Amino acid sequence: MSITVNAAFDSGNIRVLGIEGDTVTLEIVTDTGSDFYQWFHFRVAGAQGRALTYRIVNAAGSAYPPGWPGYKVRMSTDRETWRLAETRYDGGVLEFGSTGEDELVWFAYFAPYTLDRHDALIARIAREPGVTHRELGQSLDGRAIDCLSLGDGPKPVWLYARQHPGETMAEWWMEGALERLTDTADPVTAALRAKATFHLVPNMNPDGSFRGHLRTNAAGVNLNREWHAPTAERSPEVLCVRDAMDATGVAFAMDVHGDESIPANFIAGFEGIPNWTDAQGEHFYAFQRRLSAHSPDFQMELGYGKSAPGKANLTMSTNQVAHRFGTVGMTLEMPFKDHDANADAEFGWSPERCKRLAGACLEVLAEMIDGM
Ligand code: ZN
Repeated sequence: MSITVNAAFDSGNIRVLGIEGDTVTLEIVTDTGSDFYQWFHFRVAGAQGRALTYRIVNAAGSAYPPGWPGYKVRMSTDRETWRLAETRYDGGVLEFGSTGEDELVWFAYFAPYTLDRHDALIARIAREPGVTHRELGQSLDGRAIDCLSLGDGPKPVWLYARQHPGETMAEWWMEGALERLTDTADPVTAALRAKATFHLVPNMNPDGSFRGHLRTNAAGVNLNREWHAPTAERSPEVLCVRDAMDATGVAFAMDVHGDESIPANFIAGFEGIPNWTDAQGEHFYAFQRRLSAHSPDFQMELGYGKSAPGKANLTMSTNQVAHRFGTVGMTLEMPFKDHDANADAEFGWSPERCKRLAGACLEVLAEMIDGM
């Protein structure tokens, strides 16, 4: 029985260099029109009854090589439950295995969130009471940029994710946020919906998601470097969302991401924007302090450095939104590794925990929305 490796499906990415005996040699394919690569997702057939070793030999040249030490591959046999696989990173090669119990095995960089699952999420949530759906625009490949809105309050809140399509944890977070916000038995989110109107864009980069990209859209553009001047030719995904923000205003914004290297959840802010005020900054720091006290899955020690005064990069959405609307914006980063302070040896940082962290963020926002 021969082994086949296949990634020709929604969000798949791998190239087979060779199969010799029980060793499968692989490389990750770059994003179209770009040098970025790190996301992989593939299926192995014919895996039963033999111990196989998989070697991704171009791991060292990926976008974030520090992402590999301490990282563990996600493995599934039913495409629902994703467990950590024993993984080694040595000599620039990422190596892991399957033990032969199942005929079909899937591997991925993180629990995938396929475009098909995205479509199902939109269909399900759009039918919930009080939810309105808008197609804000279309991607370069013509895919919908979906926005779900809910709530009756005067404060416009924007939550958006997957500018970087390989950061699938971000859409798991969005699924959790949408489920909490549409739970009519939840008093926390009922109060939030009375004070704010929420606009959620669960997937800003459907083309990159389907194509199995790490970081860019169909033209190889990093959408989170387009917010100062998005165009219909390069970045229609950002243009339509920014235009919709201009129409509603923004009282609070969160851009949801994943980080390859840091084994923790953390938030990055907007220090260094030209019109920074300490009052605006204090809301941002207070949000982090409260979330840190509220959830063992959040911390403030590990994270990115702050930009110096006046040095913020206004091409990035959090800086642009905070600058443009004089508001509190933030970038939530979740790990591909684990939240080490509260680690899980079986699942690592997982879809279920992404969804719970979304709930914790909404609980903290509920405490703070009056001041935003
Ligand atoms: Zn990102």
